[in-house]
Amino acid sequence: WQEMIRGFLPWILLLALMFWFWGAAQKRMTQGGGPFDFSRSKARRAHKETSTATLDDVAGIESAKREIAEIIDFLKSPEKYRALGAVMPKGVLLVGPPGTGKTLLARAIAGEAEVPFYSISASEFIEMFVGVGAARVRDMFKEARKDAPALIFIDELDAIGRSRGAGLGGGHDEREQTLNQILTEMDGFEAHENVLVLAATNRPDVLDSALLRPGRFDRKITLDRPHKEARAAILAVHVRKVPLANDVDLDQLAARTIGFSGADLKNLVNEAALTAARESLHEVNAHCFDLARDRIILGEERDTKLNPQEREAVAYHECGHAIMAYYMPNADPLTKLTIIPHGMAMGVTEQTPREDHYTYTESYLKDRIKVMLGGRCSEKLIYGEVSTGAQNDLKEATALIRKMIGQWGMSEKIGPLGLNIGEEHVFLGREMGMPREFSEKMAEMIDEEIQSQLLALEKATLDFLTEHRNQLDALAKAVLKRETLSAEDVEEILRKEEARKIA
Ligand code: ADP
Ligand code: MG
Ligand code: ZN
Repeated sequence: WQEMIRGFLPWILLLALMFWFWGAAQKRMTQGGGPFDFSRSKARRAHKETSTATLDDVAGIESAKREIAEIIDFLKSPEKYRALGAVMPKGVLLVGPPGTGKTLLARAIAGEAEVPFYSISASEFIEMFVGVGAARVRDMFKEARKDAPALIFIDELDAIGRSRGAGLGGGHDEREQTLNQILTEMDGFEAHENVLVLAATNRPDVLDSALLRPGRFDRKITLDRPHKEARAAILAVHVRKVPLANDVDLDQLAARTIGFSGADLKNLVNEAALTAARESLHEVNAHCFDLARDRIILGEERDTKLNPQEREAVAYHECGHAIMAYYMPNADPLTKLTIIPHGMAMGVTEQTPREDHYTYTESYLKDRIKVMLGGRCSEKLIYGEVSTGAQNDLKEATALIRKMIGQWGMSEKIGPLGLNIGEEHVFLGREMGMPREFSEKMAEMIDEEIQSQLLALEKATLDFLTEHRNQLDALAKAVLKRETLSAEDVEEILRKEEARKIA
């Protein structure tokens, strides 16, 4: 008997387990919520309590806020507008680069309008089987209409709203069905139903044109990277709960954070607070902000041990960048030079624009390329050969010159042509499916022009560094000794060297 039981026991256990699983699966199937229940709308319904964001939390985007205020007013008191014969827009598209506050703005609208708020990220739609996304969309709209006035928020719309038939591997069935369902739903409800669809995207260029047709997302609110005053205002929002030392000047900080998005600024304040905590301070001072800014711009410091030759080569490479940044009249001013490895880089030459740029001139861009080539040219001049350290510089320089020639018509030889070359995010979609709009011959000419311009810029850079060899040596010597030089240090060293040369 015992033998027999011992032989059967594993089987009995196995069978028991199987029955248990079976039961659990059935229960879930009938009750919903289990692995087989895909169709339920995952849209979270957030009431006013859960969306506590208000327009006060959103800073620096005043024109967007004004438009938003009108929409909120419409949701709150539609009669006022209807009496005048006005119809509410059905859809509002928030467009802007990542981190500029699109999601935040949508939450603020919900918070202010005090209406039921359904939000979903479009990337959630594409996670499962065909047909599920469409069912979810149908569900979400049904619930919202029952609850009207209500707000539907679809974040990252480009994940499903991309042009049909474009992108890698052709159309994605699930995506297409979901998109079609959204279009159907938006056509299906009437303006008087008081359901507003908000959507956010950072890729308006890849959206299917059907979405942008009147009667769908017919209002567009564009959010830009914040300018200087806006950055100061955003910083002010985020330091509300941070005890600041007297030496912190938000305006000055805003001036030194060109190119930062709202999310970056939030991160900056947080990093500064963390630094203060690490140093057991009671207040966050200007030094903490400096360190935080460096960490965000340059990346985390790394303690890689370079051998002396490598270290010297890195110093000359960076000094090549630095000399060009310092002397080229149109380049952004040099603000820092270091041979302490940061992030992926062995050394960093930091330049900070004097003010926000919205357009760039050809001379600025050419100087910028010379700065990029400075590292490699310096190696060439000092060692007679180049190293792998310039890979990224070359990649960036080539990408920039492609755009200058192909998109901005900055070549006499090619002329004022705007072509679809040098576009970013090729992997994301549209360009892949787009036929090249110029001939083989033109492509050849462009390639030649790219090469000849880069060669000319390289020669100019190499000549300049050869002429300034003394300054290059002096700077390299100093940075090898001190590891990090500020803009003032660099200026002092170079001035001294110039004076010595004249004397
Ligand atoms: P997006 O959706 O555009 O990528 P988010 O709305 O997610 O950006 O922004 C991320 C965070 O950055 C927000 O939670 C907010 O704290 C901060 N932020 C961005 N823009 C602003 C702004 N204009 N004012 C205040 N904070 C902002
Ligand atoms: Mg977002
Ligand atoms: Zn470099």
